[in-house]
Amino acid sequence: MVDIRSVHKSYGALDVLKGIDLQVQAGEVTVVLGPSGSGKSTLLRTVNHLEKVDRGTISVDGELIGYRRSGGKLYELPEREVLRQRTRIGFVFQNFHLFPHLTALENVVEAPVNALKRPRKEAEESARRLLERVGLGDKADAYPRRLSGGQQQRVAIARALALEPRLLLFDEPTSALDPELVGEVLDVMRDLARSGTTMIVVTHEIGFAREVADTVVFLAEGRIVEQGPPAAVLDAPAQERTRAFLSKVL
Ligand code: ATP
Ligand code: MG
Repeated sequence: MVDIRSVHKSYGALDVLKGIDLQVQAGEVTVVLGPSGSGKSTLLRTVNHLEKVDRGTISVDGELIGYRRSGGKLYELPEREVLRQRTRIGFVFQNFHLFPHLTALENVVEAPVNALKRPRKEAEESARRLLERVGLGDKADAYPRRLSGGQQQRVAIARALALEPRLLLFDEPTSALDPELVGEVLDVMRDLARSGTTMIVVTHEIGFAREVADTVVFLAEGRIVEQGPPAAVLDAPAQERTRAFLSKVL
């Protein structure tokens, strides 16, 4: 489903990703852990071409992201094509990124209507179903400032789902939340995982990783140090670097 091959990315002299190889199977959940600055957000951002890779390739569902191949060479796709690819890859950010001047419902409806040209009525019906699904059926008309952080993040997830993504990316979706609000967001993510959504999740929620992840990846200094099933990586890490990190977050 997701095939990341030999991806390198630098900012000037700073090598952030130093050859990442990662495969995610359809319907599986991959949790990415790693210290601050290890390149987790950069990696997620390369997957939907918010960051261009310097080397390597990324494909989703067999489709090369950001480029097309012709005669053995790669050519960058025009912006319009990149946007088309991006609409099928949902991204949920740490700080929700909702439109403050739109209600919960309007936030969810915006992209299907504007990006996918769906009829508004149809998009609204589907948005109401999605808000129900994330437990916010009664908050459709509320503006973000009237919602708790956990509720805002659930609207953001509904908004990502509205584009019927083939892949969902989460970048520390609960780390801006008060501790008592983390659970409601993780519950929604757990449901999505159970329903077979392919997800890559950057999080420090080890309990979630242990319960929901098919694969846990430990990233440090731009390299994958270790990856495998949660029981292996979290409970019996082979690398000292992983053990040292886990001893700090557990
Ligand atoms: P955190 O856990 O703090 O979110 P991270 O693992 O997500 O960290 P990244 O945000 O991917 O780390 O950043 C990796 C490195 O790249 C950091 O040193 C960061 O300062 C640097 N970096 C990220 N984005 C840019 C940018 N646009 N320009 C220059 N440097 C950047
Ligand atoms: Mg980050």
